[in-house]
Amino acid sequence: MKSVTEALSLVEEFSRPLSIENRALQEAAFYYVATDLVAPVDLPPFHQSAMDGYALNRYAGKSYDIVGEVKAGDRPEVHLHPGEAARIFTGAALPPSADTVVRQEDVAVDRARMVLEKNPERGTNIRRQGEQVKAGEVALEQGSYLNPAAIGFLASLGIDRVEVYQKPSIAIVSTGNELIKGGQALSPGKCYESNSVMLRSALDSLHFHQVEVFHWKDHYEETVANLEELLSGFDMVLISGGISVGDYDYVARALEAVGVDNIVDRVRQKPGKPFYFGIKGETPVFGLPGNPGAALTCFYIYIRTYLERMIGNSDYQLHTSEARSIREFSKRKGKVQFCRAYYSGDTVEILEGQGSSGLQSFARSNSFVYLPEDIEWVAAGDRLKIIVLPVL
Ligand code: AMP
Ligand code: MG
Repeated sequence: MKSVTEALSLVEEFSRPLSIENRALQEAAFYYVATDLVAPVDLPPFHQSAMDGYALNRYAGKSYDIVGEVKAGDRPEVHLHPGEAARIFTGAALPPSADTVVRQEDVAVDRARMVLEKNPERGTNIRRQGEQVKAGEVALEQGSYLNPAAIGFLASLGIDRVEVYQKPSIAIVSTGNELIKGGQALSPGKCYESNSVMLRSALDSLHFHQVEVFHWKDHYEETVANLEELLSGFDMVLISGGISVGDYDYVARALEAVGVDNIVDRVRQKPGKPFYFGIKGETPVFGLPGNPGAALTCFYIYIRTYLERMIGNSDYQLHTSEARSIREFSKRKGKVQFCRAYYSGDTVEILEGQGSSGLQSFARSNSFVYLPEDIEWVAAGDRLKIIVLPVL
């Protein structure tokens, strides 16, 4: 049995980025960049107007002849002399002979004459060539996350393919003779299966979509045979249920039989004590408690940590913060407790209903309150560590 800290550092230690793949930019959102990305061109690619207005050769008093026009996309063919101006629009190339753009709001125009109502600052309202990044400079470092802004930035540089760390293919297995699918009528002794549905949506929300779901009976030989197949067919295996100490909990025995090296076997925590982590070759296997609340807790603490590092987010840490408890809470010594909680600003409410199985309070929570092993009592007003969940 490990402490939470030990278990989490083992999970971190054994997680490595998967190999690199080349993806079309549009298919690379929510991946991590595997190489430094160098700008192939200047951005902006030319001096351009930042406003709709008039380009001046230079400041030459209040009054100017309008001698041409440059729209976005035009070559800037017009040549300006002192005292001349060109109509220009946002994003249009600045004529080489111009040094300033005045906003159309700051001028009065009468046919081919333009009169300044304000004196412009020289060089104003121009986006300079290479002002964001110059050709040859690193635009995004290795390890950057390709969020929508990053995708847009790379697109604006004309980059259409990128090297990223692969994402894993993941098998989710739910075990248990008692489980039936939603939509069927309940019969005596049966329960609706929720873990695979829940874990799959947790993976979806973190942009892991290569997922397959399996349902196994509590049967030792079948579990062994099925495990061997999954271990060679997926980059990660998540198994819910069957991992604790009941007579029909076959998963731990089967994992041993197929040669999985056990790294974490139970953790001093609540909920989620039966948590199991092992590796065969390169393939990690996580055993999650069948109790749904416990399974999801382990997912957010351990599996997410493993996954983030697997996809190249090498600095990933749980997102923690602090808040003041608005209520009292008692717990037993000797285990960390992850309490489902709702934080808002500087305060946090530990919610009613902290059993391992229940999901109702979990569905309403946006965080865990993290209570260390040796704590027995939380008073209202105590400052508590919280772990923010990616559930919004
Ligand atoms: P186990 O870890 O297999 O002993 O299961 C512990 C509890 O969780 C039992 O009440 C199971 O019925 C329940 N359980 C196990 N797997 C699931 C699942 N996939 N969906 C919903 N409940 C489950
Ligand atoms: Mg079971």
